[in-house]
Amino acid sequence: MRVVVIGAGLGGLSAAAHLSRDGHQVTVVERDSIPGGRAGMIREAGFALDNGPTVLTMPNLLADAFEAAGADMADFVTINKVDPMYRAVYADGSTLMVRHGREAMTEEIRQFANSTEAESFGRFCDWLEKVYRAEMDNFIDTNFDSVLDLVKPWRAGLELVKLGGFGKLDKKVASFFSDQRLQQIFSFQSMYAGLAPYEALALYAVITYMDSVEGVYVPVGGMHQMAAGLAAAVTKAGVEFRYDTPVTRILRDGSGAVSGVELGGDERLAADAVVCNVDLPVAYRTLLGGVDAPRVARRGKYSPSCLLWVAGVKGTPPPEATHHNIHFGNDWGGSFKALISDGVRMPDPSILVTLHSLDDSSLAPEGCSSIYVLEPTPNLDGKIDWSKEGDRIADDLRSRVATLGYPTDVVVERMYDPLDWEALGMERGTPFALAHTFRQTGPFRPNNVDKRVPGLVFTGSSTLPGVGVPMVLVSGKLAAQRVDRYARDTAIVRW
Ligand SMILES: Cc1cc2nc3c(=O)[nH]c(=O)nc-3n(C[C@H](O)[C@H](O)[C@H](O)COP(=O)(O)OP(=O)(O)OC[C@H]3O[C@@H](n4cnc5c(N)ncnc54)[C@H](O)[C@@H]3O)c2cc1C
Repeated sequence: MRVVVIGAGLGGLSAAAHLSRDGHQVTVVERDSIPGGRAGMIREAGFALDNGPTVLTMPNLLADAFEAAGADMADFVTINKVDPMYRAVYADGSTLMVRHGREAMTEEIRQFANSTEAESFGRFCDWLEKVYRAEMDNFIDTNFDSVLDLVKPWRAGLELVKLGGFGKLDKKVASFFSDQRLQQIFSFQSMYAGLAPYEALALYAVITYMDSVEGVYVPVGGMHQMAAGLAAAVTKAGVEFRYDTPVTRILRDGSGAVSGVELGGDERLAADAVVCNVDLPVAYRTLLGGVDAPRVARRGKYSPSCLLWVAGVKGTPPPEATHHNIHFGNDWGGSFKALISDGVRMPDPSILVTLHSLDDSSLAPEGCSSIYVLEPTPNLDGKIDWSKEGDRIADDLRSRVATLGYPTDVVVERMYDPLDWEALGMERGTPFALAHTFRQTGPFRPNNVDKRVPGLVFTGSSTLPGVGVPMVLVSGKLAAQRVDRYARDTAIVRW
């Protein structure tokens, strides 16, 4: 089949990799001049600054995408462990190093808290692993055609019930650890799914598994190398790329099925199937005139957003700093309430400071550093008027970072707030898509196919299985499976 992939984000690249293996003739059309989408990079004044994801988990899923393109990941990108994975600095001044590997982490917890908490960590990891095993094949790495598909893997569903997966995440984590600081470090990952630990189901601990048990990694040359490397492998597999080429419309024939895409002006590219990596609600609005987005995409609850400051600065970080530094604010519960329920800034914001150049000197000139600071904020459904308050909040963030002892003598910088994310094509100004409430997950999330538009398949964080690098890589594979099925159903002879 002739397949056009709109967008060279990680979802689109993964789809292209899997489609190339399946023998389709694939063209990726990307509006920007580089691949990666949200996993982008700014190169300026000798700095290479990642401006998207910083925490890479489950690199095996990335390796799967390379393998689908007939390539060995190691030939395109080198992935290293980040250890310590995080330095967690709490409001009371205490510091926990989150280590790679169970034994090292058990010992760390013994020093940080006590032996009881350290022993609990082992039981916690066993529990996380069972949750992951029950979920991955049955509920994450799978396409859904109906809600009934949720009950078909009944053994796995029953296992999740037995594991307490349908209780609340904060309570489940608290059943292992009595130290509130440990509860925080093993439940904050629900934020990656757009939820507070007190509202997330315990089954979302699967994200904690990916992070705390499987570990955190980083590619040499920065996070963007995941995308650059995968694009190179996919090109080698025979996929054609057209950069600097925005798609302005998805074309359909008289029956409503896709027939190609319109590329700016008058140019058209014919296709038998189209894989769309554009944020799903935005794609419906801007590329599919006359077809409404699914209700959940229009009316659903979107994840919080973030204020992101990336900068190339003179000087080096303080000696205690590590690759990822989480500075927790006080009032843990109140912070989530402000962010998620009240739609206002956290009173004492928790922030993530990532220092990519600390382990990779190629990312900054000598004597300089790259600095990446992320503060979770409400999305555009919240109460902050970013056009009026944005500059003040940004200044506040910069001074907080300086107060924490990081170098802030700026050579180059970018600040992204929810209005910037919206301008970049992200619904409600959040890079983290629809929140993973139970009613917006699995068969309840906007599906990757739409009966009204045969031949159109979505990939990326706003469809199945969800948000984050591991999930969008899986979404590309699922999209390719959908195209294959469409090819069989329509009996179009493969190219
Ligand atoms: C600041 C930030 C921090 C994050 N932190 C993490 C993290 O630490 N760990 C993690 O796992 N995830 C993280 N994420 C989330 C993760 O980056 C995303 O879930 C993932 O990269 C989304 O990939 P995607 O393929 O769905 O979409 P995108 O990357 O948005 O790809 C969509 C592509 O489509 C292109 N496009 C859009 N419209 C058109 C058009 N009309 N024509 C042609 N091309 C078009 C875009 O240019 C883009 O290349 C973070 C994201 C951000 C922004």
